[in-house]
Amino acid sequence: MPRLISRALAIGLLALLAACATAPKAAKNTSKTFATVVVDAGHGGKDNGAYRRFGGAEKIATLDVAQRLDRKLRESQLKTVMTRSSDVFIPLDERVAIENSQKNAIFVSIHFNDSRRRGIHGFETYYHSGDSFDLAYRIQSKLMTIPHSANRGVHTANFRVLRLAYYPAVLVECGFLSNRSEGNQARDWEYRELLADRIAEAIVEQRYGAGVYRGSTQVAAQSQPASTGSDVSPAAAHH
Ligand SMILES: [Zn+2]
Repeated sequence: MPRLISRALAIGLLALLAACATAPKAAKNTSKTFATVVVDAGHGGKDNGAYRRFGGAEKIATLDVAQRLDRKLRESQLKTVMTRSSDVFIPLDERVAIENSQKNAIFVSIHFNDSRRRGIHGFETYYHSGDSFDLAYRIQSKLMTIPHSANRGVHTANFRVLRLAYYPAVLVECGFLSNRSEGNQARDWEYRELLADRIAEAIVEQRYGAGVYRGSTQVAAQSQPASTGSDVSPAAAHH
């Protein structure tokens, strides 16, 4: 009965395909070997994220920090992919797909926080798989070198972009837009540059070790030629 056999085969094949589609792929621990950083600017388009009097729309601040981070990572010879580079709406599943379609990557999602209690402030970094803890901890630690920063800790979370990631993935909450001080800072490009610099430093250290990162300071959204020649002091001297 060749027809029956082929039908059985077809059903078997379909079952196999379905299993492949639903079974989670084995996560890859690329936390020390990654070549690409997927930089994810939270929210966008119709999704403002948090929207507060002090801090404005979260989607604007996340995009600016993400773009600054993207440039700093490329300056440090890392390949980058941005999930969005303009004010557009990207569904979470599409962000996950972009992340998982890379060959040897990590994923860093940039957000700002929100609370009904205006007094709450500080940085938080989230991860899901154990492979992501080092990176999350390192980013949080570098953010804590920013003067007057408050440490709200490194935590696990079930966020979709973290849970479905094949690669190490973290989500950084760069302060509370609902807090007067942090909201005002989030509107300040110099502060956003500082946030991006600390996150970039953490990522470069995670990959290449301490003292390798050489951050360059940028003016507004425009890039300026990095200082040249005379500046030969090692980055480690900053500490
Ligand atoms: Zn957000």
